[in-house]
Amino acid sequence: MENILPADEHAFPRSRYESGGSTFWIGFANKEKRLFVTLNSTKDSVYNRLDGKESLFGGEKVKICPLSHENAVIIREAFPFTAPVSHKGRAVSMGLGDRLGLASPGHIDLIRNYDVFPVLAQQSIRELNLTGRTFGDVLDSATWAVFQEGYMSGFGADGDHVKTAAEVNMALDSGFTMITLDCSEHIRSDIPSLDEDAVSGLYDGLPAEDRERWEAEYINKTIRLADGTEIFFSKASLERDALIYGGAIEHAERVYRECIVTCGRNVDFELSVDETPTETLPESHYFVANELYRRGIVLTCLAPRFAGEFQKGIDFKGDTGAFEKGFVAHVNIARHFGYKISVHSGSDKFSVFPLVGKHSKGKFHLKTAGTNWLEALRVIAVKDAPFFRRLLTFSLQNLPEAKRYYHTTENTGNIPPADSLTDAELPGLLNQPDARQVLHICYGLILLKGRDSEDKESFRERIYKCLCENERAYRETLRAHIGLHLSKLGLEPVKGGEV
Ligand code: ZN
Repeated sequence: MENILPADEHAFPRSRYESGGSTFWIGFANKEKRLFVTLNSTKDSVYNRLDGKESLFGGEKVKICPLSHENAVIIREAFPFTAPVSHKGRAVSMGLGDRLGLASPGHIDLIRNYDVFPVLAQQSIRELNLTGRTFGDVLDSATWAVFQEGYMSGFGADGDHVKTAAEVNMALDSGFTMITLDCSEHIRSDIPSLDEDAVSGLYDGLPAEDRERWEAEYINKTIRLADGTEIFFSKASLERDALIYGGAIEHAERVYRECIVTCGRNVDFELSVDETPTETLPESHYFVANELYRRGIVLTCLAPRFAGEFQKGIDFKGDTGAFEKGFVAHVNIARHFGYKISVHSGSDKFSVFPLVGKHSKGKFHLKTAGTNWLEALRVIAVKDAPFFRRLLTFSLQNLPEAKRYYHTTENTGNIPPADSLTDAELPGLLNQPDARQVLHICYGLILLKGRDSEDKESFRERIYKCLCENERAYRETLRAHIGLHLSKLGLEPVKGGEV
């Protein structure tokens, strides 16, 4: 049994709990974050179940436990607020993807003052692969952050852009409470480029029973929604929508029945049709939503592909007027069917946030992820300038490989060589759209491959070390940056603090 020195035991002030005869808190032992629990010798006590090492602490016996997966499972059971929940009934929710598992304390610091439901654990399969993490790792990071920060207002866990029943089950088995089903592989994006005769020919090949029902329900019908939005289907638009989205609707129904209904928990089901090359027209959105509704599928959100470009980590590109017009119609359709409109790739879309805030009538889901990684790099640029230069150079060298996973339109000619900038100028690169895009999409290569000859440590190890040593700085940059998202969305802090 070792005695922990007082200098090493700084505790996070909000992480102190009394439960079942023990006191719990998160602090440091040998510079590593650990869970501390005071002795409780009752047979089934949480103290006994947790894996850790018994030590003497201030003359008292405590168990010092790693923030491991096994211990997170026990903590979620013992402290239910550390387990994710559904956000049905919460008007504004926000996905705060945390690729490193270090951002949630900063997110919580900010969000606890707003009436916004945070989805702290949000990761796509692509992100898991590119960061070498699992759904379990992502949820555990959120659990420990919520415990550390004493945040009891509820958070979500989103298996983002999962495509198959197997991927959906992987997220659900890890305890996730939201599924964003990406139907892009079942959307026929070849249809919009075909002429009307070709479309009709393909449409005639669909089952007669479906065609008859659709034709009676949609063709030459104007559907008026409560707020005045009108949706009209011509023969051509019905044929096109049935062909483009028919497979996606069937896939969504299959996954919903096989995985969501049977999982025994209240799961938020979001349908994503945003990762397609063409804009989702309002009548297409209506068609998909109406077909799902009549099959009894309850959506929490739907993510259309809006007008304009939503590239990762930079502002909206395109015609804000066209975005606004489409967005209003999409919001009205979502309201009609009773779910939230979901805005994907919502990092840094400052020029359209006021429109989202205004027209969503205070009901929307917005997803961010990459911007939280870029804010981590901003901290590194300030605290470890030589390392940041290496990260930028490495990213530029490996850009072609990163572009296999992401669509971006940066001009690398606009990025000054890292060596030409002073230390004080480096953080400014995080305000430069071309550098942001490069650094954003190279996260996977940086984390999994990055290592250079002059340094034995991997980039990954050095990133974690720098951010763990500078947790306060990372919190502050996230508070400021995500805070700017909230204020541009027209959201105000709630008087009196935590909701
Ligand atoms: Zn998306």
